[in-house]
Amino acid sequence: MAKIGINIATGSLQQQEMIVGIDLGTTNSLVAIIHPESRQAVALREHQSSSLVPSIVHFGPGNEATVGEEAKKFLVTEPQQTIFSVKRLMGKSYNDLRNSQSFFTYKIIDDESDRLVKVQVGDRFYSPIELSSLILSELKHRAEHILKTPVTKAVITVPAYFNDAQRQATRDAGKLAGLDVLRIINEPTAASLAYGLGLKKDEQKTIAVYDLGGGTFDISILRIVNGIFEVLSTNGDTYLGGDDIDQAIVSTWLQELQLPAAFVQQNKALAQEFRIRAEEAKVWLSSSLQYAGRVGDYAVSLGRDDFDRLIAPLVERTLTCCRNALKDASMAASQVEEVVMVGGSTRIPLIKERVGAFFGKKVHDELNPDEVVALGAAIQADILAGNNKDFLLLDITPLSLGIETMGGLMDVLIARNSKIPAKVSRQYTTQKDGQSGMRISVYQGERDLVRDNRKLAEFNLTGIPGMPAGIPKVELSFLINADGILVVKAVELRSGVAQSIEVKPQYGLTDEEVEKMLLDSITHASEDIRLRALVEAKTEAGQILDTTDRFITRNAAHLSQEETDATHRAMQELRAVLDSNDKDLIHQRIEQLNEISKPYAERLMDEAVAKKLKGGKV
Ligand code: ADP
Ligand code: MG
Repeated sequence: MAKIGINIATGSLQQQEMIVGIDLGTTNSLVAIIHPESRQAVALREHQSSSLVPSIVHFGPGNEATVGEEAKKFLVTEPQQTIFSVKRLMGKSYNDLRNSQSFFTYKIIDDESDRLVKVQVGDRFYSPIELSSLILSELKHRAEHILKTPVTKAVITVPAYFNDAQRQATRDAGKLAGLDVLRIINEPTAASLAYGLGLKKDEQKTIAVYDLGGGTFDISILRIVNGIFEVLSTNGDTYLGGDDIDQAIVSTWLQELQLPAAFVQQNKALAQEFRIRAEEAKVWLSSSLQYAGRVGDYAVSLGRDDFDRLIAPLVERTLTCCRNALKDASMAASQVEEVVMVGGSTRIPLIKERVGAFFGKKVHDELNPDEVVALGAAIQADILAGNNKDFLLLDITPLSLGIETMGGLMDVLIARNSKIPAKVSRQYTTQKDGQSGMRISVYQGERDLVRDNRKLAEFNLTGIPGMPAGIPKVELSFLINADGILVVKAVELRSGVAQSIEVKPQYGLTDEEVEKMLLDSITHASEDIRLRALVEAKTEAGQILDTTDRFITRNAAHLSQEETDATHRAMQELRAVLDSNDKDLIHQRIEQLNEISKPYAERLMDEAVAKKLKGGKV
């Protein structure tokens, strides 16, 4: 299916490389391409099967991972080993997830902190990046199998509200799966592209993208001007989607059959069966008026009218989000010119009807709503590949630009393939009390450790007034102008101390060198990510040892001898593995230390609050 070309230099046959579009979804993921002959965007599927791959990873007894439909079978029977909704964990700390913990049936490490979450399966620890990379690897292999050609380049979509850390995590997951991620684009932008919106040069339009998936609802209001998409507002509900509809159907059936919910919960296989039948009924009712089926010995049925009544409150909630999004964009529903429907759940007739009525126009539902984001990503990939001659490629940065952070890690500020001009700022702070200077080293490249990248410049921000560690706020900004000149500026916001430097990142760099740097980052991806994880684990361990040490010294009087001894032992055990180069072992020991210090840390906290309350100071 891929184009075959002849390499003029060598005379050998050369396959033109295919850049794929990937929708890495919360519930389902898939790959799409632009068909080389028909030039149409198509979702990849094996024979007659579905293009959708459930975004679920199951770990077997020997820690071997399976992804997709096979993994989904274990969702209810082996909840601890079956990881779903990984996308919800991307770039998140445990504190971010505190209120939604009951949603996850697998073990998320509770370290009561702002550090990034990890998932524990047996004695192994996985970062959301590693878990997502397993899904992306599966997609890559499928695509290669279907296309019969290597797939190494991709455009991956993310929700419009994803922040920098979440986007970077998605890039890293791609890299770890052996993919060169050419660009991360917003899901609503991709969906609009799939409908040809934004592809005409002088078009100006306001678009609403209504996305109801398996577990999340997103509404985005976009404005396109001359091929550039601007997100005017986003709104939604991160816990509202098709799964809730399935739940509602199961509850109705249980009521009708007079089965107590507890009875079904005890019988996991039966609960699973009920859920499967409920989803089947829902899908069936998108095109028929009556469903009848069986769950074990029980007969179940549902009519379209009852179904519509059941989901009406849920639909109403999504419309409230739409109202809020319009308000944030200072816009009336009538000013929206196009409405794009995205997500499997928008196949439901009542939803199309109500959304159409809300915006007062016919909605776009001509394409498969669960494929449309991937189709748009494929269109973007094709533009980046330079195949779409109607579309001008804007100037982009060929390599990522960033600075050195703790442990020699590369912190990317402007990712490669970003449009020029671009400006990104990020805040940093000091590590030592009274630290008066900060060295800023600017690097270019795709590797995780700066020692493997190209150093562009270095300068010192000096004269920071003496403050405790963590208090100064140093804002670092990277501005790359239309001529490709990079201005790096550092400002300590509390004192106003500032320093800046100018560099030309492309100076003295040939295309071959850029190509080699990209290639290196892919071939070394797993090693790099392993090293990064290790450096992060060590940094984390160092910080925990410091804080614990300070805490027990300061509170020595309030701790029992056993508590102090146990803590010292756990600290010693953690120190002993710091040089082991085994990040899982380091995490285990961190966990162990946390388990020991948590009870007394909580007790002291409670006592302090109680004391304050008594003193009437709170
Ligand atoms: P996500 O973007 O969250 O990864 P999808 O866009 O693939 O998810 O949507 C998945 C949801 O769509 C599931 O809850 C599924 O049951 C639902 N769905 C798929 N087809 C239909 C249909 N015909 N009618 C109603 N819901 C559907
Ligand atoms: Mg989706």
